[in-house]
Amino acid sequence: MSLTKKIKEFALDIGYSKVGIIPADSFSDYLADISNRSEMYSFFLKGASRAADPRSQMPTAKSIITTVYDYSQKNFPQELTDKIARIYQARCYNAPPDRIHGARPQLLRRFLENAGCEVGIGTIVPERIAAAKAGIVNFGRNNFAYANGIGSFIYLTSFLVDQELEYDAPTLEVGCPEGCRACIKACPTQAIYEPQKLNPLRCIAYNNFFRQDEMPGGSFVPYDIREKIGTKIHGCDICQEVCPRNRKKVTAQKADDEYLTQIAKDYTLTNFLHMTDDFYQTRVQPLMHNYIKHKKYFQRNAAIALGNLADPAAIPDLALAMADTEELVREYAAWALGKIGSNPAKQVLEVSLASEVSPAVQREITAALLAM
Ligand code: SF4
Ligand code: SF4
Repeated sequence: MSLTKKIKEFALDIGYSKVGIIPADSFSDYLADISNRSEMYSFFLKGASRAADPRSQMPTAKSIITTVYDYSQKNFPQELTDKIARIYQARCYNAPPDRIHGARPQLLRRFLENAGCEVGIGTIVPERIAAAKAGIVNFGRNNFAYANGIGSFIYLTSFLVDQELEYDAPTLEVGCPEGCRACIKACPTQAIYEPQKLNPLRCIAYNNFFRQDEMPGGSFVPYDIREKIGTKIHGCDICQEVCPRNRKKVTAQKADDEYLTQIAKDYTLTNFLHMTDDFYQTRVQPLMHNYIKHKKYFQRNAAIALGNLADPAAIPDLALAMADTEELVREYAAWALGKIGSNPAKQVLEVSLASEVSPAVQREITAALLAM
């Protein structure tokens, strides 16, 4: 049996749904596309140029083995899905090696090494394009990659190896029904501005992960985006949920994920808002360890969600948040109180303004009071 066939059979045996292989050539079209839209992608230009050139990361690389993992094999609890995108609930996104979804790539890596391959460490490639070039996905107009028979709730992982293997034929086309624009219409922030063109700065996922102090633009979430975020704390699946190509998967009868079922009740917005170290370690990090490294951003996101719900029952919690030690949390709690409105919210804002020392929070309180 050829090495290519052995690799593919092993990958399928350990739970990947699809596996394809391409030469480790550069992804120059991908880099050109990102560079041409640098005003939207300034935060990612360095990463994109690294990802686009596999041999700059591993000079001996000859092939890219790319895999699809179907992370939607079990049910996701609705109370989590309202707040957290499915890929994070599934715990497969860059999972650490001591977790089940981190062990799978380690198993494939070990298999490749035992078969005599050098395997790149810490390498990155543009996963969706690599998988389409390898014929295991095609594209949706929402920019996501779709695997036949599965849909877009998939996690893609690639491995660079120093062996020439047998290569697959590409499927770089859009696989959507003609005329469908459901994802573009459903996107609350108009982040998909034309088919297959996303402005990440308007995407809810970008706004709840990447708006952090050290990023371009800092931690400020634009006002028009805040109002569209709804209750999303980490990621957004809306443009995948509405997609007819995912309908079968979304509506299928599946077993519950018992781990998620057990922990789901803890994921209240108020638990996020008053984030304790224990909640952060035992509830947030197992699911959402990748992008947000400080709990204050989750607290900010929870304040935005509570503001969008506009439920006066949240006023006492937001009043408590107005005394949080983090300026960022107080700013967004003030915004949320302004969104909720009512005399009790106004009183909290007025009392807070009298003792607030941060100019940024004072500005947010004043704006909230003026808007009431
Ligand atoms: S993830 Fe959400 S915000 Fe981003 S493009 Fe899709 S629907 Fe729009
Ligand atoms: S919603 Fe329609 S256009 Fe968008 S990705 Fe799905 S099938 Fe394609």
